[in-house]
Parts: sequence; structure tokens; C-alpha cells
Amino acid sequence: MNRTKIEWVKNPDGSPGWTWNKVTGCLGPNGTPSKPRRCLYCFAHRLARGRLKKLYLSNIGCSLIDGSPHHIRLYTNVIPDGDPNDPFTPRHWPDRATGPYRRKTPSTIFISSMGELLGDYIPEDWIKNTLDTCAELPQHTFQILTKNPKRALYFAFPDNVWLGVTVTSRSDWFRVGILRYSHAKIKFISFEPLLDDAFARLSPPPSDFSIIDWVIIGAQTQPTLIPKAQWVYRIIDTARQAGIPVFLKNNLHWPGGPIREFPPELTRPRGKVETNSQISRRILSKSGGQPHVLVHK
Ligand code: SF4
Repeated sequence: MNRTKIEWVKNPDGSPGWTWNKVTGCLGPNGTPSKPRRCLYCFAHRLARGRLKKLYLSNIGCSLIDGSPHHIRLYTNVIPDGDPNDPFTPRHWPDRATGPYRRKTPSTIFISSMGELLGDYIPEDWIKNTLDTCAELPQHTFQILTKNPKRALYFAFPDNVWLGVTVTSRSDWFRVGILRYSHAKIKFISFEPLLDDAFARLSPPPSDFSIIDWVIIGAQTQPTLIPKAQWVYRIIDTARQAGIPVFLKNNLHWPGGPIREFPPELTRPRGKVETNSQISRRILSKSGGQPHVLVHK
């Protein structure tokens, strides 16, 4: 796990939160292994092709199945039919499974900042094992942001996992309609990058908006595209009327400074925190002595 500079990922004590990239990579909304359709503005994709390329390409989990005349090659850490030569092909990192267990103080952990955990092409056990870990650590808050909320409907979400959807324009509202049926207790919208007037011609706001617990608004970077102030005002006003906390990112350069509100859930009393020896015992008993396979069953 790494400390993150993502402004809205904050620990309950206000310090910077963490990212946990046990699953990396994305094929983009509606992408498939043979035809990825990644977002042009994707920061994670740029990083994966840049300074992280060598690291990502090295994680394929290659193993050979004996007994076949040709020793069939299996890339166990790459999605089925995924291209192992593409650094942003979704990958699993089993050796990162224990990261959240090592945090002693209640923390906020953003899952898969470097990809899409809920892509249709992500193996079910990669997602389930991730959520199992979250359920075992109620003292932490986990955050997932997706463009594919329908996949979330197939999983039970522990109360400490917040689920958000990205809405960049009016045409993305359908994601909020799906989000409302997820089991996540805290649901949020990330209007980042905000590319048009998301609430235009939506008065009153869609009823789905009433189930939202938090909104985040930000601009596109690289290339920079600052949304019009009236689009941002409209979201803030609508959220205010619904009593929804608002978080504005620095990249909006908002006059008077950004608004920094969080759902009260962030600082609610946490679950019981285990001692070091309790954690070690649990990890070792589940993994047969191999901590790195704790949740990678
Ligand atoms: S990680 Fe998000 S922004 Fe990047 S390609 Fe996937 S859906 Fe698009």
C-alpha cells in the first residue's frame, strides 16, 4: 500500500489516506480483452505505460501445466484472454493481499486507484477476496470508484466499503440509477473530470440523487479542462439542498478555496482493532503458513 496524494482519500484523523492496488489495469468502459476502450484522459493508463511499465509487465504469474505435450502456459495474474504484453491489462497482485492488515490505526484505503476493480472481465474471486479482506478489517474505511456499477450488484458489500460512480456528463447518470441498487452503505458520485453541465435540464434532480452520501467534483488534467463555474455551482446547490457533503478538488481553482466536506461516516467509532499477535495468528492459520495467500484462495 502507498500513501496517496488523492485529496479526497483522507484518514479519519485528517492525514492522507492510502491506495491498495491488489488489482490493477482496466480495459475501459465497454472494453473487452481483444478490444480495450480506455478513456483518453486516463491518468492510470499513462502511468502504466510510463514509469510503471516494467513493473507491471513483470507481473504475469506465469506457470506451466505439466502433462500436456506442449506444457500449456498459464498467466495466473492476468485476466483470462488478457494481453500480458499490455501493462494496463488487468492484473492481480497476490503479494499485496496483506497490505491493509498491516495498518494499525483506522485508515482510509482507496482500492484499485490504478484500474477498475469492477470490470466485467475481472475474475470473480479477485473481487470477492478483496471484499473479504475489507470485511475482516472494520476499523478501516475502503473506497471503490467504478464506471461499471452493475458488476457491484453481484457482491455483498461490507458497511465499511464505500462505493462511488464516475459521472463526467449527463449521459453518465444511468450509473447512479444502478448504484442505488448496490449493497454499499455509503454511495458517492465523483464528478471528475466534469465535462458538461451534469444537471442541465434536470429540475428537480433525478430521484436517484437522494440516495447519494457524498459528491466529489474535479477538473480534467492533462490536457487541462476546467469546467464552467455554473456547472459546478449547480452541483453544489443541488447537493446542499439534499444535505449531501461536497468535496471540491484543488484542480478546479475554486474562488475562495475548495470546499472540503466528508460523510460523517468517516469519523464514526471504528470496530474492534486486533493486536499484532491476533493478526499474525489469523493470517497464518488461514494461509497454511504463507501470509501472501491469505485472501487469494
Ligand atoms: S481506469 Fe477509469 S479512467 Fe482509466 S480507462 Fe478505466 S474507466 Fe477509464
